[in-house]
Amino acid sequence: MRILIVEDEIHLAEALTQILKKNHYSVDAVHDGQSGLDYATSGIYDLLLLDIMLPEMDGITLLKTLRRKGISTPVIMLTAKGEISDKITGLDYGADDYMSKPFSSEELLARMRAALRRRGEVVPEDGLSFGDLVLNTGTLKLTCKDKEIKLNLKESELLELLMTRKTAVTSKEQIIEKLWGFDSEVEHNNVEVYISFLRKKMTFLHSSVRINTIRGVGYVLEVAD
Ligand code: CA
Repeated sequence: MRILIVEDEIHLAEALTQILKKNHYSVDAVHDGQSGLDYATSGIYDLLLLDIMLPEMDGITLLKTLRRKGISTPVIMLTAKGEISDKITGLDYGADDYMSKPFSSEELLARMRAALRRRGEVVPEDGLSFGDLVLNTGTLKLTCKDKEIKLNLKESELLELLMTRKTAVTSKEQIIEKLWGFDSEVEHNNVEVYISFLRKKMTFLHSSVRINTIRGVGYVLEVAD
C-alpha cells in the first residue's frame, strides 16, 4: 500500500509518515498543493491524506482536479477547526472521509482501512490470495497450506501488486513506480533481484504459483499444473 500525504505542516506530515511506515505502508509526503496534484496524478497511490489549506493550490481544488482527470484514489481530508463548510465541500467533490485535527493515530488508521475496504481492495489485516498462496500485508507473512515465511516490505509490496493485478502482466516500470515512487532512479535490475527473492520463497513454500517472465513486457502470476 502506497500512501500520499499532502500537508504543509511539516511536523504533522513527518509524524504521519512515521506512523504509517510503522504500520507497513509506503509513504510519500509533499507540502504544497501543486506537488500534491503532480504526485497524485501518477495514479500509483492507494490512498491520499489531503490537507485543505495548502500553499499554491488548496486541497479542494486539488481534489476536484484529480477527480476531473478520472483518478478515483480514495481521499481522506485533514481539516482544521472551523473548516466545517470545507468538509462538506470536500465530501461533495468526492472525498471519502475527513479527519478533524487533532486526531489520534488509531482513529486515522481505522478510517484509512475503512476507505481502502470500501474501494474493494485488500486492507492490511486481510489476507490477499492467489492460487495456494495467502499474503498478509499487515504482518508480511506469506503462507501456503501449512507452511509460512516472512517477507520483507518490498517483497510483500511486489507480490501484493502482482496478486491484485491477477492475470494482467505488470511491467518493470509499474513495479518501480509502485515500490519506489514515480520519481525514483531505481534500476530495472532491482526489480529482477526482488523477483528472484520472491521466487525462492515461493519454492521454499512448495507453492504451485509461479512468477512468469514475459520477455520485454513484464511479469505475471500463474498457477502451475
Ligand atoms: Ca494546512
